[in-house]
Amino acid sequence: MEYADMLLLRFGEFTLKGKNRTRFEKTMLRHVREIVKPYPKARLLKEYGRIYVELNGEPAQELLEALVKVFGISSISPVKAVRPVLEEIIDASLRFIEMVNPEPGTTFKVNARRVWKDFPHGSQEMNRLVSAPLLKAFQALSVDVRTPEFELRVEIREQQAYIFCENIPAVGGFPLGTNGKAMLLLSGGIDSPVAAWSSMRRGLEVECVHFFSYPYTSREARQKVVDLARVLSRYAGKIRLHLVPFTEVQTSFAGIGQDNLMVTLMRRAMLRIATTLAEREGALALVTGESLGQVASQTLPSMNVIGRATELPLLRPLVMMDKAEIVDLAQQIGTYDLSILPYEDCCTLFLPKSPTTNPNLHVVEKVEAALPDYADRLAEAAAAAITVEVTPHGDERPADEADLILTVKEDWF
Ligand code: ATP
Ligand code: MG
Repeated sequence: MEYADMLLLRFGEFTLKGKNRTRFEKTMLRHVREIVKPYPKARLLKEYGRIYVELNGEPAQELLEALVKVFGISSISPVKAVRPVLEEIIDASLRFIEMVNPEPGTTFKVNARRVWKDFPHGSQEMNRLVSAPLLKAFQALSVDVRTPEFELRVEIREQQAYIFCENIPAVGGFPLGTNGKAMLLLSGGIDSPVAAWSSMRRGLEVECVHFFSYPYTSREARQKVVDLARVLSRYAGKIRLHLVPFTEVQTSFAGIGQDNLMVTLMRRAMLRIATTLAEREGALALVTGESLGQVASQTLPSMNVIGRATELPLLRPLVMMDKAEIVDLAQQIGTYDLSILPYEDCCTLFLPKSPTTNPNLHVVEKVEAALPDYADRLAEAAAAAITVEVTPHGDERPADEADLILTVKEDWF
């Protein structure tokens, strides 16, 4: 990697989208600029469908590792830059192959492109001019123009010629926030952080809402969600997290003799409150970490009855994924170790022995209608939400944290 003078960033599928393209590319550039900021010598060059990061001595490997995570980048190539002169191009190509150190029998091809039309040799001619000395110097190599094991790319421009071969896959997707905003229900579990990342990768700006039932759930449980949001903010720059006190709503379901509907009622209440917050914040959809069949509340009949509590589109990015795939993603994005910390979620409280897998919508609606001042309670919970803006390296804390600590202390005495 030390040979690289530049990193070439290619864009993903969004390049297909005609009129949005400029907006997408601008967002992309802004995001890359943000990542490159701590490396003052690095310079960005924007070109149609690509961004080049000129390293000027900044560490290629470190920047590469950060940039493969930027949404909208489909692949990255470390590039050697030389003067656009035949001898220098051949020389650099030889050194390139030396580094690749191919096994005997390896097939390759040279793929040259003359962008600068005044360069004296055409693209086809350059393919021959560059591969001949390579074949001579490396007897182990042979040419295969159709399915080579590696391709040496040479791009000749007026200022410089670029030589590269590695095509390192990056995360892909759409640039951050280019497909609008959604409100994600973030628990402390494994799934919802992965759903958040998947949504962001699809170009959604994500705000998170978390429901906590203090003092039935601990301060640590809530802090864990703040910490999860911090991991997510590495991908987004910042994450707005709304913390909703859910105790009052939850206790309104106690003692009504509908224990097996408890989870259904709770989930519907969460969706209602999340809808209020989404409307307030201008989010056009809700997102959850639900996955079909995973637990009683995620059977199709349950999803049907729960989903009807909101009129907003309810996105479930993980709905068809296996748990093993979700766990794998959680490990890759860095949320897994936090997610498995053993703190109570408000939904595991008052959990009935046998939650229904097949709730009846009419019964559920009747039960809700009979709850005293239910709509007011939901509205109050939404209004009492505390918002924290979480950033990757910050130490932001919810404004009421001191109050929570005080309450704990009072409990002790
Ligand atoms: P997760 O791993 O995300 O907790 P799960 O498989 O454990 O998911 P549930 O706990 O039943 O499933 O929750 C289903 C979804 O409901 C979660 O993915 C999340 O989007 C939402 N949710 C559950 N509990 C909370 C909470 N306390 N605050 C906000 N959202 C929640
Ligand atoms: Mg959970």
